[in-house]
Amino acid sequence: MPATRWMKIDVLTLFPEMFAGPLDESIVKRARDAGLLDLKIHNLRDWTHDRHKTVDDRPFGGGPGMLLKPEPLFEAIESLKREKTRVILLSPAGRKFNQAIARELAQQEDLLLVTGHYEGFDERVREGLADDELSIGDYVLTNGALPAMVVIDAVTRLLPGALGDDESSHDESFSHGLLEYPQYTRPAEFRGRKVPDVLVSGNHAEIEKWRREQAKLRTKERRPDLMK
Ligand code: SAM
Repeated sequence: MPATRWMKIDVLTLFPEMFAGPLDESIVKRARDAGLLDLKIHNLRDWTHDRHKTVDDRPFGGGPGMLLKPEPLFEAIESLKREKTRVILLSPAGRKFNQAIARELAQQEDLLLVTGHYEGFDERVREGLADDELSIGDYVLTNGALPAMVVIDAVTRLLPGALGDDESSHDESFSHGLLEYPQYTRPAEFRGRKVPDVLVSGNHAEIEKWRREQAKLRTKERRPDLMK
């Protein structure tokens, strides 16, 4: 049984309600209930001081849309940040999130995920406060809530003790730079399609060999970039 560890994740967002469903189900819920993950969602508007709770303004130099102003973000991040907090901005311009980064983040004690909206953040937030900037892929979403949830989910399931005995992150896609091999369950024959003989042979060495070969084959066909 791996040693369990506690992790804290704070999220700064304009849409706290978006987080309710996805993070209250499945393995993330279990990890929260078991005390492995202490997750807090904060509304950026709580750090505004005007009647309208203004968080945005027009970009200098013109152009469409609005930008998140630096003042509420600086105030919020500075008040939420502790000694070991890693401050991560979610942005399409960040480094692309992947399983290796998820593993790296799962080693941290304390993350603060800062999510944007509109056209994104005033650049001084990145310059002055961010330790990292992550993108979940080459597409643009309306705000950073979904990207933050993607990061939280991927990281939480890697915390020691988060996955049950029947679930393992050791042998899945990306864990050895490969996609996962094909898997089958009962029945051994379904609508004329049979499970490969080797998997019902009981020969564990042969099964291992077949799985390794299939993982390589699948990765070569679908994601040759992973094999470089
Ligand atoms: N103007 C920005 C650009 O072109 O890079 C896009 C801003 S996007 C409409 C609003 C917010 O959604 C971003 O500040 C970020 O927090 C979040 N977001 C959108 N797509 C994202 C992605 N692929 N990865 C991470 N965050 C994303």
